[in-house]
Parts: sequence; C-alpha cells; structure tokens
Amino acid sequence: AESQLRQLQKMEAVGQLTGGIAHDFNNMLAVIIGGLNLAQRRLDRGDTDIGRFMDGAMEGATRAAALTQRLLAFSRQQPLAPENIDANRLVNGLADLLTRTLGEHVRLETVLTPGLWKTSADPVQLENVIVNLAVNARDAMPDGGRLTIETGNADVDADYAHDADMAVGHYVMLAVSDTGTGMAPDVLAKAFDPFFTTKGVGKGTGLGLSQVFGFVRQSGGHVRIYSEVGHGTTIKIYLPRIHGEDVQPMARRAAVSARGG
Ligand code: ADP
Repeated sequence: AESQLRQLQKMEAVGQLTGGIAHDFNNMLAVIIGGLNLAQRRLDRGDTDIGRFMDGAMEGATRAAALTQRLLAFSRQQPLAPENIDANRLVNGLADLLTRTLGEHVRLETVLTPGLWKTSADPVQLENVIVNLAVNARDAMPDGGRLTIETGNADVDADYAHDADMAVGHYVMLAVSDTGTGMAPDVLAKAFDPFFTTKGVGKGTGLGLSQVFGFVRQSGGHVRIYSEVGHGTTIKIYLPRIHGEDVQPMARRAAVSARGG
C-alpha cells in the first residue's frame, strides 16, 4: 500500500512538474515573441529604434535559460558524497552565513544538544538544506522574528514511528523553527511538491522543499513539517544515526550481528 501511494505521489509530482514548466516556459516565450513582433513591425515601417523590444526579448530568453538550468540541476540525480557528520559543528559553521542571510530583523538562535549522535550525509547538501529552510523561514517573517535551529538525539520507537510514518530507529534530529506566518492546511499539503510556491512569479521556484525532501529520503531519513497559521513553522529532519569512532569495536560488532540476525 505504501509503495502504491508513493507511486501515485510520484506521478502527481511529475504531472505538476511538467505542468509548471510548460506554464512558466510559455510565459517566457510569450515575452520573447511579443518583443520580436513589435520590433519586426517597427522595422517594417523603416523605424530602427527597436532596442527596447530587443531588451525585452533578451530578458525573456535569459529567464528561460535560467529555468532550464534549474531544471537540469533538479533532474540530475546529484550523487551524494556522504561523510560522518557532527550536525552541531555543521550548524555552528553556518552561523555567520545564516546571520547575514536572515538580515537584521530576524534573530538566530541555536540549541545544540551536547553528546549528539553522528550521522552520515553529504555535508554540502545538508548545508544547502539548512540554508534553504532558513531562507523560507526569513520569507515567512517579513516583520522580523526568531529562527531557531535545534539538534537532538531521537530514539524513534514503534508507537512514534507509526504515528509519524517513520521507520523505527535512532536518528539525529535537526529542527528549523520560525515565528512566521505559518502555513494554511492547503499550503502544507502541497509544500513538498516540486514547483509549488506561494511566492509569485520570479520570486519562488517551488523547488526548495522538494529538494529537501529528496535529499532526506536519499539519505535514509525523514522530514516532517509542523505549522500553525499565525504562529510559525517547524521543519524537522531526521537522519539515521551511525556509530562513529567513539563506539568500541566490540559494541560495533555486536550491533552489526544484531542487525544481521
Ligand atoms: P519556494 O520557497 O521557492 O516558494 P519551497 O518548496 O521552498 O519553494 O516552499 C514552497 C512553499 O511552502 C512556499 O512558497 C511557502 O508558501 C511555503 N513555505 C515553505 N517554508 C515555509 C515557512 N517556513 N513558513 C511558511 N510557509 C513556508
């Protein structure tokens, strides 16, 4: 049942993807064709003052080229280069960049759990994910607010796994919370869909959260959104725990054989 649902979701995503591209691309072609038409009409009258129309056409073409670039980046299954990661260090390393990105009206707060488990993930892509989430959070707080990044060890038991639709296990949890607008239920339902955006043409691509979803699933993890209109949004990412250098060889063998059996 789960794989059927996944398949349906995939087909829906592909439908939305192609529909979204066709729509955006058509708009850009309309701009190009319109500009060239007007230029042609002037030339037919012997008027060579067509710079403005050529500029318009060029702008449409440039935007279309940027869209195909984004599509290529999106469709290329970017190979992951996983490394053992201390998420606390990764978050600390991003603090300056995040502070600059958030601007002066949004305060950054980090709540980093000591003794955090290690996970294995592509560090560059995990950084991109956090920056993506921070940019979304900033956009949801036009009048300022607080962005909180929290880390934690999550021991997901059977009950919780069932409720949250996750696999039982140990995860490193990364939560990005804002005090922004929150998402209405219809936005929440579509938030992970490729090309779904409420930010308007030219502002949002609608690819941020779908990339987050893809990365987390490829890394063997889970992502959940908790949002309340008028209060804010929390996005929780769960990445599988790995046993790093701190684990004794005996314990590691025991863990391996327990999994094998
Ligand atoms: P984009 O940011 O380009 O719109 P995303 O896939 O990142 O694309 O987000 C999709 C939509 O989900 C956004 O347009 C917005 O409506 C909603 N959203 C995402 N993050 C948040 C947030 N932190 N608070 C409120 N709404 C959000």
